[in-house]
Amino acid sequence: MLLEINDLHVYYKSYWYILKVLNGVWLRVDKGERVGIIGESGSGKTTLLKSILKILPQNGIIPRGEIRYDGKNILKLGDNELTKIRRKEIGIIFQDPMAALNPVFTIKEQLYDIIKHKMMIEGHNPSSKELHEQAVKILNDVRLPDPERVLKSYPFQLSGGMRQRVMIAMALISAEKLLLADEPTTNLDVTIQDQILKLIHKLVTEKNLSTILVSHALGMVYQMTDRVFVLYAGDIMEEAGTNELFNHPKHPYTQLLISSTPRLSSVGVGEGIKGKIPDYRNPPPGCRFAPRCPYVMDKCINMKPGKIQVNRDHVVSCYLYD
Ligand code: SF4
Repeated sequence: MLLEINDLHVYYKSYWYILKVLNGVWLRVDKGERVGIIGESGSGKTTLLKSILKILPQNGIIPRGEIRYDGKNILKLGDNELTKIRRKEIGIIFQDPMAALNPVFTIKEQLYDIIKHKMMIEGHNPSSKELHEQAVKILNDVRLPDPERVLKSYPFQLSGGMRQRVMIAMALISAEKLLLADEPTTNLDVTIQDQILKLIHKLVTEKNLSTILVSHALGMVYQMTDRVFVLYAGDIMEEAGTNELFNHPKHPYTQLLISSTPRLSSVGVGEGIKGKIPDYRNPPPGCRFAPRCPYVMDKCINMKPGKIQVNRDHVVSCYLYD
């Protein structure tokens, strides 16, 4: 097992209130496994990825839980060990490359910095020639034409698709074991989305990387993952192998999510799920899906359901299977 998360709680604190976002999340990723996390916007998917790297915003706190990565509890590691992991083992592709790239530095300055720090962790202080060779190689790997011109450019001088390829290049420098991809194609047009997904798929396969792909685009997750976790309002509702989950969803939320996605539904265009994600200042004390669930029972209201194993490779958190 490369990554195992247990009972993870993440809150955001402000002067007036506390947002209780993650509510006891569990997750596991084997070596070389491609895991998907699906759920509506605002379910806590990005918070979960940021927790793994301990890059939550300043007001984010983790009152409870464990993130075991390669045998170590990430939450107990010191800054030096965390920096090594972020620079050399786990890479992340963010949703918005413009927010992730620094607008005042050229791509060359930003790429050189990442490559240099990684090589220094490996005990080698690279020359300018080595940095240049590595930077050109990684831009070629992500199929960016004219790497010399890209290196001299500032982020705003590149197209959206090119910026996303630069982000992938940067993530891959650090990702020797695990790649986290947070809605990696959301801001791109459909043709470019397809190219970027194929590229990510090819690169992770070549490098035999474990991946966590976070997306609300179910078709993408269906094509690109081996196992899926369904996250709703900060709780994992269901976990199963990808085929099992999409063909035999058990949790009412997963069933509604899949049936409301046109290309995955056999009944045509769905109507969406009525209602909205609960207010994290005062979330439901029992099952967080209860206010929207067509099967809600009395016991769902006050007590959160546990994990129920419905078959060898399928876990659901719902009283209907108790
Ligand atoms: Fe619905 Fe109850 Fe199951 Fe929650 S636990 S999904 S409210 S039936």
